[in-house]
Amino acid sequence: MYRVLITDPISPKGIEILEREEDVEVANEPEIPFDRLLEIVKDFDAIITRSRTPVNRELLSRAKRLKVIGRAGVGVDNVDLEYASKLGILVVNTPGANTIAATELTLMHMLNVLRNSHKAHQSLKEHHWDRKKFMGTELFGKTLGIIGLGNIGSQVAIRCKSFGMKVLCYDPYIPDEKPKRLGVKRVYDLYTLLKESDIITIHTPLTEETKGMIGEREFEVMKDGVYIINCARGGIIDERALLKYLKLGKVRGVGLDVFSVEPPNWEFIDELLKFENVSLSPHIGANTYESQENVGVIVAQQVIKALKGRTPEHVVNAPFPDLSVLPLIKPYLDLGEKLGKFLVQWSEGRIGRLRISVRGEISKHSEPIVSSVLKGILSLIVDEPVNLINANYVAKERGIEVEKLTSEETYDFKNLIGVESLEGGKSVSGSVLEGHLLRIVQIDEYKVDIEPEGIMLVFENKDEPGVIGKVGTLLGKNNINIAGFELGRKERGGRALGVLALDDEVPEEVLKELTSIPQVFFAKQVKI
Ligand code: NAD
Repeated sequence: MYRVLITDPISPKGIEILEREEDVEVANEPEIPFDRLLEIVKDFDAIITRSRTPVNRELLSRAKRLKVIGRAGVGVDNVDLEYASKLGILVVNTPGANTIAATELTLMHMLNVLRNSHKAHQSLKEHHWDRKKFMGTELFGKTLGIIGLGNIGSQVAIRCKSFGMKVLCYDPYIPDEKPKRLGVKRVYDLYTLLKESDIITIHTPLTEETKGMIGEREFEVMKDGVYIINCARGGIIDERALLKYLKLGKVRGVGLDVFSVEPPNWEFIDELLKFENVSLSPHIGANTYESQENVGVIVAQQVIKALKGRTPEHVVNAPFPDLSVLPLIKPYLDLGEKLGKFLVQWSEGRIGRLRISVRGEISKHSEPIVSSVLKGILSLIVDEPVNLINANYVAKERGIEVEKLTSEETYDFKNLIGVESLEGGKSVSGSVLEGHLLRIVQIDEYKVDIEPEGIMLVFENKDEPGVIGKVGTLLGKNNINIAGFELGRKERGGRALGVLALDDEVPEEVLKELTSIPQVFFAKQVKI
């Protein structure tokens, strides 16, 4: 008999699913005090929590029978993942349960700002019968720009197409089939989307890359009278710039469910509400009964799968059943992850079809190594936690095709991990030297020797005297310190590849200036 303890409220449907299993016994204690939990946790095979229960070291060390922790929701800040992994306890969660809820809230904000529905309601409440004041704009025939065509972006696309809108998307990390299947026109650079859209809606995670993604420069290129909706994460839109362009009248309407700090800066809210076409909500994208029910159902299904030895889809951590191999393969897992992160940036997201190779003595452990490469790639682009266990599943779900190659043979190195974008024609390979030194040894066709760490400026240039000097002078002029330098070339006077390790980030303008040096063909900042 499997004993499952529920320590926070989950939907009755979820509990029902657990109780239907003949070999599962459920204890539903949604308000259990922590002291009591510490006492009884030893008797359970699984616990299901939300964010209230701290699943910390103290609790885990007493949980002698525990095999799985189900987090009803996405964030796992309340779970000591590392310790759970060490103890071989699986942690599962429920991403995607609120996709429809967030989608519909996006549509609500869109309609509010276009039709003034929320203002019209308020006006009637104040006993005004003012029909002329509430002239609106139709969605029909307008161009919608979706930034991030993931779970929610796709559902927004489907609904907006049924409104008769023309839908564009910008998402560098999806295969071409996805927008094609949805009847959405894909654009390959953000600025095209910004220039062409009447309404822009954001559905990306908050990452290094998307933080501040919509700032002054982006507002500048948008159409006059554009509408903007953000039900994804605060911080993707630069809020000061948003206010500026609302004041200038360039932005005609804004719908926001999320803010850079939450609860928000009230001065910002007051400033926003001075404008007519603003529709705000306090981060309620997931707040529907159905979404909460989904969370309960999904967590129950995941916990049952985990208890019965079937593979749950949404695994958050990666317990190692065979701890003895971990010290041996750990550096290769780290290298694989770094190579994945490198490639996704170097190939500018063209990762729809990949070839991952593991060669040499390490090839017998190729499976976790391939997963580590995928983990590196996906961790920069998706909203759910990706780990060695779920990386293959998440990649497949996103339509990424992976060709795996393993071979005990190698040439120059005892071990070699390679990852190649078959769409973008970019590749990177790395090796672990002396059992612990991680090195990138090849980028595209150039042999190099680089430690994959920190900020790197990678550029392809014509191999002629003075180019490196020009690059160095430009960086120096902009106060960017160079910590290391590596050059790879095939032949004298041909094409060469330069890699600079930097102490500081290269601002977009400097990168542009760099690529305007005639001998520099391509330059990319890569952060690992
Ligand atoms: P998802 O991971 O399914 O989709 C995200 C998409 O963004 C992916 O297709 C990815 O390729 C793309 N992307 C990543 N970086 C990008 C970039 N730099 N430029 C363009 N596209 C990029 O996530 P989802 O479930 O659709 O969620 C989308 C967002 O909505 C997330 O930020 C999530 O946290 C948020 N969300 C908010 C609420 C709410 O309460 N308001 C509820 C649910 C989800």
